[in-house]
Amino acid sequence: MLTINEIFYSIQGESTRAGQPCVFVRLTACDLRCSWCDTPYAFDEGRKMSVDDVIAAVEQYGCPLVEVTGGEPLLQEDVYELMERLSGTGRTVMLETGGHRSIARVPAGVLKIVDVKCPGSGEADKTDWSNLRALAPHDEVKFVIKDRGDYEFARDVVSRHSLVGRVAAVLFSPVHGALEARDLAAWILEDRLAVRLQLQVHKFIWGADVRGV
Ligand code: SF4
Repeated sequence: MLTINEIFYSIQGESTRAGQPCVFVRLTACDLRCSWCDTPYAFDEGRKMSVDDVIAAVEQYGCPLVEVTGGEPLLQEDVYELMERLSGTGRTVMLETGGHRSIARVPAGVLKIVDVKCPGSGEADKTDWSNLRALAPHDEVKFVIKDRGDYEFARDVVSRHSLVGRVAAVLFSPVHGALEARDLAAWILEDRLAVRLQLQVHKFIWGADVRGV
């Protein structure tokens, strides 16, 4: 059984798949408390569903792209069966994870979006650095950046772990309402970083606080 916060069909707002229709499966619970978290409702709201029920709910949308997210989806043991079986339906399966839980057991075909928490999140000391060695070429690494200090931290991690070229994308995403995208863009250009500036597309379409989109 899984505890599911919500399942919905929307436009993917992040990653290299931004702009594509996608079904989102949001799992309940998280053991972090990032200062800028935009899904605190997923900390404890949810209902029990079997893996079969989740797959049936996903299939009703007829969409080839599905993202498993949270909360922190890797807290629930049955998420591994869910990802395996969703992959078996022929869909592209993405996993969004906070970077503090091991990704070692994630099925090989799943596209992992692994966060590296910056100091502004208040949770940077929780990162499981072994995850950066377990990345596949199709995976993506995301830094949510609140200020200049976060930017410099992210820039150093990217360099130290030679992330550019080792994964499909390194995403630098400004905290909505805290850091101007134009400032982050200027820093990236000034330092000639081969990273991807990511804006949360769904927030521009529907607004920053709208749920289920
Ligand atoms: S890891 Fe994600 S869900 Fe958990 S507190 Fe941080 S932003 Fe929120």
